[in-house]
Amino acid sequence: MSLDGTYDAGNIFAKILRGEMPSARVFEDEHVFAFMDVFPQAKGHTLVIPKHSQARNFLEAEPEIVGPLMLGVQRVARAVRAALNPDGLVITQFNGAPAGQTVYHLHFHIIPRWEGVPLGRHGEGMADPGELKALAEQIAAKIS
Ligand code: AMP
Repeated sequence: MSLDGTYDAGNIFAKILRGEMPSARVFEDEHVFAFMDVFPQAKGHTLVIPKHSQARNFLEAEPEIVGPLMLGVQRVARAVRAALNPDGLVITQFNGAPAGQTVYHLHFHIIPRWEGVPLGRHGEGMADPGELKALAEQIAAKIS
């Protein structure tokens, strides 16, 4: 899908927000929802999405959601660091299929990195749901 198009309310993340699909929830407030990526590129790979937006990508983000969304990303990233003690953290976001986007509801990836541990491939290898739930709880406990 290119950068142009219309928001599809049937996308996976919209279903997660409506409670129609399960997720390993880390955090939510009035503005954002954070949950574990089911095909993690590293242990603790977390996604943060806006709750009230029809933006498919960052370019389309409604101005009023950008600030609260980025504050949510920072808050969750700090909790990921506190919970898992990585050596580094990648925070990334893809716009359009050629850039690597596969789900068309705006989202940010928070991916912990450890020295000497290669990054897994994007969207490969489904995680064990029990492990994801445990990680989500570990990270949630560090939200401040
Ligand atoms: P992107 O490629 O940037 O659009 O990222 C979409 C991300 O969503 C990928 O990293 C997928 O692993 C992840 N993903 C896809 N389906 C689900 C799901 N049901 N729950 C959690 N993460 C998902």
